[in-house]
Amino acid sequence: MTLQLDARIPTGPLAQKWDKHRFEMKLVNPANKRKNTVIVVGSGLAGGAGAAAMSELGYNVKCFCFQDSPRRAHSIAAQGGINAAKNYQNDGDSVYRLFYDTIKGGDFRSREANVYRLAELSVNIIDQCVAQGVPFAREYGGLLANRSFGGAQVSRTFYARGQTGQQLLLGAYQALERQIKRGGLTMYPRTEMLDLVVIDGKARGIVTRNLVTGKIDSHAAEAVVLATGGYGNVFFLSTNAQGSNATAIWRAYKRGAAFANPCFTQIHPTCIPVSGEYQSKLTLMSESLRNDGRVWVPRVTADKRDPRQIPESERDYFLERKYPSFGNLAPRDIASRAAKEVCDEGRGVGETGLGVYLDFADAIKRLGRGVIYERYGNLFEMYQRITDENPYEVPMRIYPAVHYTMGGLWVDYNLMSTIAGLHVTGEANFSDHGANRLGASALMQGLADGYFVIPNTVGDYLASNRMGKVDTSHPEFKAIEAQVAERTRQLLAIDGTRTVMSFHRELGKIMWDYCGMSRNEAGLETALAKVRDLRQQFWNDVNVPGSDAELNQALEKAGRVSDFLELGELMIIDALHRKESCGAHFREESQTPDGEALRDDENFAYVAAWEYAGEGKAPILNKEPLGFENVKLSRRSYR
Ligand SMILES: Cc1cc2nc3c(=O)[nH]c(=O)nc-3n(C[C@H](O)[C@H](O)[C@H](O)COP(=O)(O)OP(=O)(O)OC[C@H]3O[C@@H](n4cnc5c(N)ncnc54)[C@H](O)[C@@H]3O)c2cc1C
Repeated sequence: MTLQLDARIPTGPLAQKWDKHRFEMKLVNPANKRKNTVIVVGSGLAGGAGAAAMSELGYNVKCFCFQDSPRRAHSIAAQGGINAAKNYQNDGDSVYRLFYDTIKGGDFRSREANVYRLAELSVNIIDQCVAQGVPFAREYGGLLANRSFGGAQVSRTFYARGQTGQQLLLGAYQALERQIKRGGLTMYPRTEMLDLVVIDGKARGIVTRNLVTGKIDSHAAEAVVLATGGYGNVFFLSTNAQGSNATAIWRAYKRGAAFANPCFTQIHPTCIPVSGEYQSKLTLMSESLRNDGRVWVPRVTADKRDPRQIPESERDYFLERKYPSFGNLAPRDIASRAAKEVCDEGRGVGETGLGVYLDFADAIKRLGRGVIYERYGNLFEMYQRITDENPYEVPMRIYPAVHYTMGGLWVDYNLMSTIAGLHVTGEANFSDHGANRLGASALMQGLADGYFVIPNTVGDYLASNRMGKVDTSHPEFKAIEAQVAERTRQLLAIDGTRTVMSFHRELGKIMWDYCGMSRNEAGLETALAKVRDLRQQFWNDVNVPGSDAELNQALEKAGRVSDFLELGELMIIDALHRKESCGAHFREESQTPDGEALRDDENFAYVAAWEYAGEGKAPILNKEPLGFENVKLSRRSYR
């Protein structure tokens, strides 16, 4: 181990840590704030909220995104909702219960202090968003409505129909636009960060490429925040937007930021099944559907009857059978594995046999079609448009798909990485979800990080560190600009025979087959060899048409896929080293007699923070031990 991983968790009782910490953190004098430039890469919920909040405080903020507008960040796709411990339902919820559910949901592989703060801030998020005008669903009496999500027995998920992410993002976007108008925030759309600049051990800026003109530029700052989203697209097929990528965090890793728990990938149980080789994207059917939909398969194998002809006695509602207390709302990792299990037994449905039913017939009978339409109308419409089947009449078919990455850059309690001044927020960091994220908690984390944590902790960093003035004429900026230009030149010069897409698809298949829903040592070793071999082929045989002085999406994709090929290897190495099963990381060698994940707390109750050791060298494993003072480590059971 070479890194000193200091999580800087404040002392004192759990419930007072954040308050005490905020008091103890240093403040930047209001008149001095505008003298500090903060770069925020990403304008999704985490980045947009953080950039707007810091600009509102008076910092000079530069915000970057690769899309043509901040409004197109992938956060817009979030459907189901956002958790908060408001306890409007009076059903027993509390900050502590949300904290406990999240720690347990993550299979005891996250930091208590961070998760408690998240639960605490959840209530402020709802107030902030309501004040912005986010149109959350309401009850008849005017209170905000809630529904249930997996891994919880209370109803604490706030939602705006099936478009919660879009409505929240519109709120953050308007806050961002307000700051742009005021002049304290500059937005750089269609601009991709391609490297991080570290000077005297501190993050001092980024190197970018203008995606329309191809121009390479540098931007200097006193602090950098990465809010660049998740890396699920390593698997090629996922529910993520096509553009979601790992480039910013991967290149920061290669400049010294540790990468934590890279193998922790969430596979979501309710996605529209893969239908053919031509597909490049999978569609999520929100977890909220499991509030009313019942998951089942036929009792016998290879039953090809129309599902409506299969009588109750010949159906297996396997989640209700196996997990009676949580039923269809069992957490995602557990529900996904259960679906895989019945399909592996030959009881899967649909043409490929890789599908299970999500059936609303009972709910429609009980509540009426109108209520189901009101709750899920847009999701039903989306399903029908994609599959040409009417889910009001025939059960939906669903199957697990890659959805979210719990791993990400390692951060301390202040959300600062192992590079001083480089902060990481939202899905791009590893902080709060352990080995499995509960539904509706990513939006909560992104907004907690952005609106409430980072504006305080970046201020503390700036007030505590004296920094010399650095601008983009510094030789380090010039050196990194040259490296970025050279990498681009290399990609264009290969002029091979295979498309970038074909490499991406092949990488995805390796990752899904060997490092997906279940993993074993032999498979992971095979995957390691295959990925290394594929990376070599990529650098010898990829074909990237066009030039670097124009809009060139093949070039953009080539850069991203080249990073996925390296990150994929680190994910496999991490999965190999973690010989226990926990949450979404299911090592076949480590399971209970009834097939559930078997943790090994004695040997693996730590965060694995990988350190880049240089080209061709094995990454170095650093461990942050996880201490549990407030919850008892117990076997996670939803039975
Ligand atoms: C289909 C779907 C549905 C979901 N539903 C829910 C839900 O109901 N509830 C919930 O809690 N979670 C949900 N999630 C998860 C949640 O949406 C995401 O985890 C969250 O929105 C991520 O937000 P973010 O701000 O971290 O990143 P993103 O929204 O992905 O934003 C990333 C930003 O970084 C920018 N960027 C990335 N790389 C670069 C670069 N190199 N240079 C410049 N800019 C860059 C992008 O342009 C973008 O602005 C869902 C996820 C999916 C896929």
